[in-house]
Amino acid sequence: MADDKKLTTRAADFSAWYNEVVLRAELADYSPVRGCMVIRPNGYGIWERMQRALDDMFKATGHVNAYFPLFIPESFLHKEAQHVEGFAPETAVVTHGGGKKLEEPLIVRPTSETIIYSMFAKWVQSYRDLPLLMNQWANVVRWEMRTRLFLRTLEFLWQEGHTAHATHDEAEEEARRMLGVYRDFMEGWMAMPVITGQKTDSERFAGALRTYSCEAMMQDNKALQAGTSHNLGQNFARAFELTFQAEHGGQEYAWNTSWGVSTRLVGGLVMTHGDDTGLRTPPLLAPIELVIVPIYRSDEERATVLEACDRIIGSLNEWERRDPGRLRVHLDSRDGIKPGAKYYEWELRGVPLRMEIGPRDLAQNQAVLVRRDTREKRPVSLSTLGEDVADLLARIQEDMLITARERREQNSIRGHIDYDRFRQIMDGDGGFVYAGWCGGAECENQIKEDTKATIRVLPDEEFRSAEAPTACLKCGRPAIAEAVWAKAY
Ligand SMILES: [Zn+2]
Repeated sequence: MADDKKLTTRAADFSAWYNEVVLRAELADYSPVRGCMVIRPNGYGIWERMQRALDDMFKATGHVNAYFPLFIPESFLHKEAQHVEGFAPETAVVTHGGGKKLEEPLIVRPTSETIIYSMFAKWVQSYRDLPLLMNQWANVVRWEMRTRLFLRTLEFLWQEGHTAHATHDEAEEEARRMLGVYRDFMEGWMAMPVITGQKTDSERFAGALRTYSCEAMMQDNKALQAGTSHNLGQNFARAFELTFQAEHGGQEYAWNTSWGVSTRLVGGLVMTHGDDTGLRTPPLLAPIELVIVPIYRSDEERATVLEACDRIIGSLNEWERRDPGRLRVHLDSRDGIKPGAKYYEWELRGVPLRMEIGPRDLAQNQAVLVRRDTREKRPVSLSTLGEDVADLLARIQEDMLITARERREQNSIRGHIDYDRFRQIMDGDGGFVYAGWCGGAECENQIKEDTKATIRVLPDEEFRSAEAPTACLKCGRPAIAEAVWAKAY
């Protein structure tokens, strides 16, 4: 049972608010191992729904699931120079097994490019074996120093897609396609709007040719890198001798892509939608979409109302058979807890829709529906309940995306600003600043040092400003691209 102490408000301390919501909505808890987390059923239920939706989307785009081992020979990591440089500092290494020192230490996978492409090399002989389109659902370990529940933990759950193609262009198309799948999922299911685009060299995945990213704005105006997709070029194919006989004869190296999203998305969902009362979950991802709270004073009333609730659930189920898998309903029939306390608890947990029903409602053949996102209350007839509930859930899903997108745009700054103004913004409320960039790593580094802001992406065309910036925000030289600057998680 959640205690009824008020949450810290977002305005007072966003970071404390986030931790309290995650803990008190029972999404996750701290583990006995520093930096690891326990995902509790409320949090795991959201992740399960995310997995299911993404898995369907991966399969609809031609991918199949497989599973590769947790342990990777240490030497594998060293075969791709940039890859080892990027990941070595945060690996966990197994040196002993069964009481004996191992001949070769094993890395606990931080990501699986090396082991997967070593296997692809065994399986691919000819161009006819390509493309190879695989995904795995797995846990990975990255030894992070500063951790936050869901956002950055030593061990986390994710999926990693890995593909091999005959040409650069096919790999490029795949990397872009999966970025689009991520965007569709984040906006369509999570109601979390994202900006897509390419990462600069300094933010690129270790070992990739190009990295693309989906970036979302959290309610503290910081960016969350929500998913990435990489065109790996032939770097890993060369390292692992992943070659194939080309259609015109001769051996060629394959072209690879990899792409991933993780349980970090649950943190993104909290920071996109939560309010000072707790979590708000988009209906499509909510483990419970509708909670029914019966209202009664006497035992006699209790019996009548609960009986009516059973009938209502029966009619909702019947309605649901016409649109299967839509309605996840829970009846909170716990006795000895006041309705107000139940409302508080389900609001904290983010259930999108609540039904209140008592003897007076029954007498009028109605119930009261309360939206979690807007708190709006409305009486509905019991005769049309199934449709009303479904319509309302669909509207909540849409409105949550619209609200989040409006908030992002209100906190986006476009048009010419000088560097002093930029520093003021980053010292103050922050936000996404669209500004010119000369392409120089020195400017990027200096800005990061001065303000902690980084280039989140060089945005795709649809996100770029109508008027392209002409000069670099920092040095004033001609801009080669528009960049989205923000502080990030
Ligand atoms: Zn510059």
